[in-house]
Amino acid sequence: MSNALKASLLATACAVLVACSNGATDNSTSETIGVTDAALSAAVSNPETWLTYGGDYKEQRHSRLSGITKDNIADMGVAWTYDLSTGRGVESTPIIHDGIMYVTGAWSIVHALDAKTGEEIWTYDPEVSGEDAVKGCCDVVNRGVAIYDGKVYLGVFDGRLEALDAKTGDVVWSKVTVDQSLPYTITMAPRIVKGKVIIGNSGGELGVRGYVSAYDAKTGDMDWRFYTVPNPKKEADGAASDPIMAELVNDTWGDTGGWVTDGGGGTAWDSIVFDEENDQILVGVGNGSPWNAKVRDPQSKGDNLFLSSILALDADTGTYKWHFQTTPRDQWDFTATQSIILADLPLGENGADLRVVMQAPKNGFFYVLDAATGEYISGNNFVPMNWATGLDENGRPIEAANARQTDGEPIPIFPGPLGAHNWHPMAYSPKEQLAYIPAQMIPQLYQDMQEEPDPDAYWNIGYNLSAGLPTEYPAGTLDFFRGMNQGWLVAWDPIKQEARWTVKQDGPWNGGVLSLDTGIVLQGQREGALAAYDAANGDKLWSTNVKAGALSGMSTYEIDGEQYMTITTGWGSAYALSASYGYTSPVPPQVGRVVTFKVGGTDTIPDAMEVAIEPTPKSDNFGTSAQVKAGLENYSTNCLVCHGPFAVSAGVLPDLRWSYATADKNEWTDILVNGALSENGMVSFKEQLSPDAMESIRAYVMAQGHMAVSNGEAGGPAGN
Ligand code: CA
Repeated sequence: MSNALKASLLATACAVLVACSNGATDNSTSETIGVTDAALSAAVSNPETWLTYGGDYKEQRHSRLSGITKDNIADMGVAWTYDLSTGRGVESTPIIHDGIMYVTGAWSIVHALDAKTGEEIWTYDPEVSGEDAVKGCCDVVNRGVAIYDGKVYLGVFDGRLEALDAKTGDVVWSKVTVDQSLPYTITMAPRIVKGKVIIGNSGGELGVRGYVSAYDAKTGDMDWRFYTVPNPKKEADGAASDPIMAELVNDTWGDTGGWVTDGGGGTAWDSIVFDEENDQILVGVGNGSPWNAKVRDPQSKGDNLFLSSILALDADTGTYKWHFQTTPRDQWDFTATQSIILADLPLGENGADLRVVMQAPKNGFFYVLDAATGEYISGNNFVPMNWATGLDENGRPIEAANARQTDGEPIPIFPGPLGAHNWHPMAYSPKEQLAYIPAQMIPQLYQDMQEEPDPDAYWNIGYNLSAGLPTEYPAGTLDFFRGMNQGWLVAWDPIKQEARWTVKQDGPWNGGVLSLDTGIVLQGQREGALAAYDAANGDKLWSTNVKAGALSGMSTYEIDGEQYMTITTGWGSAYALSASYGYTSPVPPQVGRVVTFKVGGTDTIPDAMEVAIEPTPKSDNFGTSAQVKAGLENYSTNCLVCHGPFAVSAGVLPDLRWSYATADKNEWTDILVNGALSENGMVSFKEQLSPDAMESIRAYVMAQGHMAVSNGEAGGPAGN
């Protein structure tokens, strides 16, 4: 890269361093396998189970079990492990009820396990087509199931919502919730609200229109749907969102641009929370599509509701109650889909408890809102940032002067599109009154597209995906890029709006947090460390290595008087695919796994698989420098988000630099034109790439391989 660019990035990096119990008595399997509304409502008072994605309706991920303590945590060991039998990313929070664990792996495959022993009871594979992998922005992950009334509810990657018999795994009903001709996917855990299954979807990077839907849990009939962005003709949809679209939302968008053809985004892809006290459903809404607001909506300067907002909908009808937009007219992929946590804080009149909504979305600000009205109470930045200088009295970001100036040289913006906080679940301890945020910073260079967008391109964000990426770079560059990416566990006081303590982690993209009533918080890390910290001050109490990525939300439960703590592990997910510049420990590739701990556990975690990769290019360099330059641009637009920047793989997908396919024009063409590997997710790109463009990518990748060898960095960026 140019010295000027490197200096500017370095300057950037330097600037940055700095209830009550009312039932749920478990007495017989056949009766209690039917989780009831009362049981869900009382989940926090029955901590031997883990009934919902976030642990209870407030999604605090705080357990009242008392079996794991500061005194005995040093004796924590592995109780059992279970292989999920897939590679790729794993993001699932296990659900536990009545001695059974329901857990998902990659490709939306569900496993029911004996929660005490890990023994398999049944497995259900929805048989997602490998070709659908290309519809995912962020790997073929799944974050878990919901259970209710004798059924297990599963959002399938290809857009299905399915109800399974909890005892057998047999399909009870299956509904397609999306237009499967469009790049919709589902990775989130469904939520149960008053007899309905609530589900959203993903696809904001590829071009879809977001919405959330409610299905009858018994029959699978759709009850209501709420769109988060306008109908492309600003017409009624016959949906619960119609009145508010006409009244408020349509006028915040122009009438032309990428949103009209590509849906506008606003996908609700992760956080949906039932606020019982206010009888409403809170929905975290995603980024705009395309990201670049000038491309998405060139006519207006409107806020583009409800992008990057928290939405409150009536729990029965799905109609609008209130919204709070965290990033008006988003153009940096600043989703507000991150963990929404409900709590009762002494912020009411005369210090009375007030039901609040807390969120730490991608944009880097922590928000506290009045749950009844959506009114902004307070906010502050929980990471360093350069896109905004603060929040005004209404909680609206005060944008930095140059934050939208993407029409010149690439500008570095942080937190960046992977966010100050992503899907990794935040936790909250009502005892400490602290939120525990898996925080990070991964800067991004934003620059407008330099040429007309290809309407056939899968990714569609309105920015130059090769911005700032050189065709050649000196040794150490990948380490430099990796060093700019940072991660912290932040214990945030939502009343004072400041960190009480912070633990700096070994890089970004770390795991979800579990909070224990005994004063302990637990968090995994990207490359396998899993640690327990003192909830009050962050002192490390215990750590182990789970030998694979430990990113998921953990859960905890009790059987026969013993407390268990469980996490799903694996290697993959958005960061590994698209932003890690390889990896630093020899962890990938890994089969997904459930790892369950208890005090006194003596089992062991199988070692990482040995993989023989010969880190050498399999042919000579070829092609002109112009061809290699064209290859960089074509690679960045079509290949980078899965195969990695600079063609450096993080081990989830093959490293193209060392591939025999890259060396052989015929094999390369067979894969790219004929889709020879489409069952693995590598579909044909013949609509996107001309034969010349395909050959330019091959020349670029081969050049990257030879450069890595001459830089002494072959075999992975750590030089191993
Ligand atoms: Ca996004």
